[in-house]
Amino acid sequence: MLLINPNNWTPQVIDMFPVVVVHGGAGHIPEDRSEKSMSGVCSATRAGYAVLCGGGSSMDAVVEVVSQLENSPFFNAGCGSVLNVRGEVEMDAMVMDGKTLGSGAVSAVRNIANPIQLARLVMDKTSHACLTAEGAKKFALSEGVPEVPHESLVTEYSRMRWTKNLAPGSNPVEYQMGKMGTVGAVAVDAEGNMACATSTGGMLNKMEGRVGDTACVGSGGYADNLMGAVSTTGHGEAIMKVTLARLVLFHMEQGQSVEAASDLALAYMGSRVGGMGGVVTVDPQGHWAARFSSRQMVWAAAQKDTLHYGLYTGEHFTQSLGAPL
Ligand code: ASP
Repeated sequence: MLLINPNNWTPQVIDMFPVVVVHGGAGHIPEDRSEKSMSGVCSATRAGYAVLCGGGSSMDAVVEVVSQLENSPFFNAGCGSVLNVRGEVEMDAMVMDGKTLGSGAVSAVRNIANPIQLARLVMDKTSHACLTAEGAKKFALSEGVPEVPHESLVTEYSRMRWTKNLAPGSNPVEYQMGKMGTVGAVAVDAEGNMACATSTGGMLNKMEGRVGDTACVGSGGYADNLMGAVSTTGHGEAIMKVTLARLVLFHMEQGQSVEAASDLALAYMGSRVGGMGGVVTVDPQGHWAARFSSRQMVWAAAQKDTLHYGLYTGEHFTQSLGAPL
């Protein structure tokens, strides 16, 4: 496919294939949940790719992917979110548009099924980049976003894990890196525009009102048509210390490939602040990477009618997108 990229300072002809890359969280997925997590990420990736193939924008694609994963109880986002120390769901989400550098985020929101769609509304309908808690709720109501009962976002699994982590001596951060799944996606569309989207219930047994990396531009995600797009997952406080998404893009600006830049940024987060995590990354040419320093990360990518997916380091399966689900 030969395209003119209209968003570069000096228009250039590039040879690029639309792509969407998705993660379902860095950590260690228990055996009995790994199949469901993998098939959830693969089917959301297929849906995102269908949006791109139908002429939709990269922003449409990543919001579609993340909405689907928020609706699944197998991920730490939307329904399935981890609980805070009071046993409540408070969620963060963000989107960023690589063409305009516009972004939208919500933090510590409750009673909303799809925080990623509210984040997009913040970007599209306000002059702000982030709305939080009560203010975000009022904005949601004013935009006709339905309020959902708290219980509809709480799964038996998240309640069980919350209870376990109330025990004295428990280590929720370690436990979470053991078992959770924030969700995110990056995409490049046929016009060469990029976008990222990330959504999470945050860290298990977090303090009420805690806002993590996911709502912070440059940490939970970043997109710039001139450089690339990244969505991150992992221990949010560590991610914020190194602004992980922007750090990946910094390495790409220095000439590193999507894989090398992702690995360098994750290695720095590990050595500098002892943080584990994962990223999905794309560049303007449609090169992509899914990299992680945790034991596992469910990921999938769709490009040139092929689905790529994996769970462990070095694992890489492919399937024709023409094949049945
Ligand atoms: N980064 C998310 C947070 O700290 C959690 C995760 O990715 O698992 O809120």
